[in-house]
Amino acid sequence: MVPRHRFTGNFSLVVGGGITGCGIARDAAIRGLRVALVEQDDFASGTSSRSSRLVHGGVRYLEHGQLSLVFESSRERRTLLRIAPHLVRPMSFTWPVYAGDRIPRWKLDVGLTLYDSLALFRNVGSHRRLTRRAVERLEPALSTRELLGGASYWDASTDDVRLTLANAIAAREEGAAVLNHARVVELHRRDGRVCGATIEDGPTGESVGVSARLVVNAAGPWSDSVESLAHAGEAGVRGSKGAHVMVPRTRIGNVSAITLTAPQDGRVMFVLPAGAFTIIGTTDTFDAVAPAEARATRADVEYLLEAANHYFPAAQLQQQDVVGAWAGIRPLAARRAKGATPVSASREHAIEQAVPGLVRITGGKLTTYRAMASEVVDVVAATLGAHRARSRTSSVSLPGGDVSDLDAIIGDATSETGDAVVATRLVRAFGSRWRSVWVLGEKDSSLRSRITPERPYLLAELRYAVQDEMACSLGDLLIRRTPVAFETPDHGRSAARAVAPRVAAWLGADDSWRARALADYEAETARVFTID
Ligand code: FAD
Repeated sequence: MVPRHRFTGNFSLVVGGGITGCGIARDAAIRGLRVALVEQDDFASGTSSRSSRLVHGGVRYLEHGQLSLVFESSRERRTLLRIAPHLVRPMSFTWPVYAGDRIPRWKLDVGLTLYDSLALFRNVGSHRRLTRRAVERLEPALSTRELLGGASYWDASTDDVRLTLANAIAAREEGAAVLNHARVVELHRRDGRVCGATIEDGPTGESVGVSARLVVNAAGPWSDSVESLAHAGEAGVRGSKGAHVMVPRTRIGNVSAITLTAPQDGRVMFVLPAGAFTIIGTTDTFDAVAPAEARATRADVEYLLEAANHYFPAAQLQQQDVVGAWAGIRPLAARRAKGATPVSASREHAIEQAVPGLVRITGGKLTTYRAMASEVVDVVAATLGAHRARSRTSSVSLPGGDVSDLDAIIGDATSETGDAVVATRLVRAFGSRWRSVWVLGEKDSSLRSRITPERPYLLAELRYAVQDEMACSLGDLLIRRTPVAFETPDHGRSAARAVAPRVAAWLGADDSWRARALADYEAETARVFTID
């Protein structure tokens, strides 16, 4: 149940536990402000688990002249590579150019030179022009028909869920009250000013009223429904749906990340390596669907497979190759999206206060969350008259991020675990804290078994997640703390049945929990992964 005693006095309440809200809570807590965060479902259960998992300057924004966004994103890429090197890792991209492409070679070269310069030439590496032969060598499975050459450049990949979670955990460790499965159902007003909220505890259904000096609406694509609890104003958010599909990497044969222009409409899209898989994405369509119901449609899947098959003709990908397909809603700032197409709509964020006491943030990207959070907390501190220290989040490592040589730690972990794949997973997910997970197997060696034989995630990760990462449902464990649901054809249903008795015991749940938890898991995976 929501602990009443934590929610008293002069604190700010952040609504929404996606990357934006968790980043705000961390920043505020590090500055010594009293802050609480509530998330109606689980951290990163919204858009923040449906991204392309890139921390990138955003090469395609150059086409729309959004240079300040690329500049900011490039700076943030550098910062995140430093404060979370386990979660944000350099990724090399190949961009092949074919005869008749919308973006010819010279234009690509000019664009990537600008991209390097907006990163102040401090990206992991500079771009390189590639001959046709060099592209063939780098990506032998790519179509060579009318291939002219291309370019390679650097960005970074991440684990969007764990990046969000790392911020939630950091906020908690810095003294914030951080709760998942706790939903704001009412906002209170006094003299026209928002002064508190009613929070409903998911598991028990009990409600508690809390007062707050300021409420921050960081509810992403839900932000208009949170706003409507206080007033009926103009829409602040415009939703654009993006879908991805995942196929086994061996079926498509890409070596690294590839940037392509979709043959159907010339949109920039990606073919991205993700361990044993390849993620193909994304679509971009304005959509008014309820954010919780955003799913890939058959048309989305066809569009993405057709584009991939165009460039990888030997793959002949079909619907049955798809291990998973999912979609998310980009919470674009409505005033920045006015009159634009989904592709040209600005990804820049907007901070607004339509009602005193309620600060809303919309727009932005996973990549820029830290800078967005710092701006919001500046507003919070100024409104509260708490002119505290400036944001320090760019110099404080995220949990597990205090590592100087990731490869050396993976080497140590490999010696200790005897399994290089498991070791790599543990270090990349938990950074310097990987041993805290592994050590759980000392008391109970069965925790060192894999959750499911074909994926490198250990039962110990689930134990750790219940104990230290605020996980309390099977979805928290198998969709987010581990990506089992994304990477198994049955979306983790058999794993859920197998682990449910242990999880029930760890949670101290009664006999009725197991059946309910499995039904909830079934409903959640159907909601996320069904192809409409
Ligand atoms: P969300 O993650 O949706 O979080 C909002 C949270 O608020 C939700 O968890 C929700 O449950 C909670 N909430 C709602 N109502 C309530 C309530 N009443 N009480 C309590 N909690 C509530 N960005 C990049 O930088 N790189 C990428 O590669 C990238 N790829 C993308 C690909 C796609 C297809 C999409 C859709 C987006 C992509 N983005 C990317 C953008 C990025 O994912 C989003 O900007 C970001 O995740 C939005 O985070 P958020 O916290 O604002 O929203």
